[in-house]
Amino acid sequence: MSTVAQKQLPLRPAGPATVERLLRWYDTERRDLPWRTAEGDRPDAYRIWLSEIMLQQTTVKAVTPYFHAFLRRWPTVKKLASADLDEVLAAWAGLGYYTRARNLHKCAATIAADYNGRFPRTEKELLKLPGIGPYTAAAIAAIAFGARTAPVDGNIERVVCRLFALQLPLPAAKPEVKRFAETLVPASRPGDFAQALMDLGATVCTPKRPSCLTCPLQPDCHASAKGIAAELPRRAPKAERPNRYGHAFVALREDGQVLLRRRPDAGLLGGMLEVPSTDWKPAMLAVGTARRTAPLDAEWWPVPGSVIHTFTHFRLELCVYLAVVPLEASPNLWAEPDRCRWIPRRKLDAEAVPSLMRKVIAHALKWKDA
Ligand code: SF4
Repeated sequence: MSTVAQKQLPLRPAGPATVERLLRWYDTERRDLPWRTAEGDRPDAYRIWLSEIMLQQTTVKAVTPYFHAFLRRWPTVKKLASADLDEVLAAWAGLGYYTRARNLHKCAATIAADYNGRFPRTEKELLKLPGIGPYTAAAIAAIAFGARTAPVDGNIERVVCRLFALQLPLPAAKPEVKRFAETLVPASRPGDFAQALMDLGATVCTPKRPSCLTCPLQPDCHASAKGIAAELPRRAPKAERPNRYGHAFVALREDGQVLLRRRPDAGLLGGMLEVPSTDWKPAMLAVGTARRTAPLDAEWWPVPGSVIHTFTHFRLELCVYLAVVPLEASPNLWAEPDRCRWIPRRKLDAEAVPSLMRKVIAHALKWKDA
């Protein structure tokens, strides 16, 4: 588009007509997602809450099998509340960010105990629940209860920044994005409006190549008119991820059991099972110092290579050691040190073992079996 054409474009501000077009588009193009009810049916707060918690930092594709598995096992919030935390963590294994699973369980327990198993209907009340932040509270209130509020996730953020050509970089621009989003929320169908923006961001107004020609917002979209859609939203440069290092000790009994330790309840991977490891530090510990923290006084072999895992705030590199404990070993080698237990390899899938620790075990066993 030429500069002259851009200047001549009589661009209207986005308003009720924009929203109307978006809702019409949603009526025919909405994504068929497992947590959505059929058109006209009442949305289910439990399903919406569960999906929104699972979807934080994760894709629809990754979440779908977990969502079905959770619903099959715990079809109501009361059933989830009565589950054992370890069962919930085990069912969550692989989705990452385990604090979400612990809060999910805590939140279910609060709703069962304090709200008789019914989700509170207002954003303000929802915000008081464990693990429910401003976005999730607004999403549940709008979608499940028709509240006139604007949840702003990554997809909506992108659409709004482009629609109004907001130039301030994220994350500083978040309050401004929310303010602009709120100006559009209609009195009727606020939940559909939120979901329509989510769907538009996921399928049309995509990060790299927005399909402006097929977009229902195009007539009012300032970024499209200025030819800068793919440049928005702007983002402040990210701080570099720091490195951390540690040593992990995989003890394998000859009868196929692996020694795992329960992590403290608070903090990263809280309450999950881990291969006993040193603390994760900014510099690699000397091998001798690290080996003194091994859980058993066994013969530890350094496994060639290392395991690298990226968390949101840091990159972790673990050196791995393997000890194979023979059947006729002395009893102290069969003991279970503090917070540790022996678990058969074939049962690991049913345990709350985070993907990092699965990688560590696989790394050690691959070398042993090679
Ligand atoms: Fe996004 Fe283009 Fe639609 Fe604007 S017109 S909202 S940039 S897809």
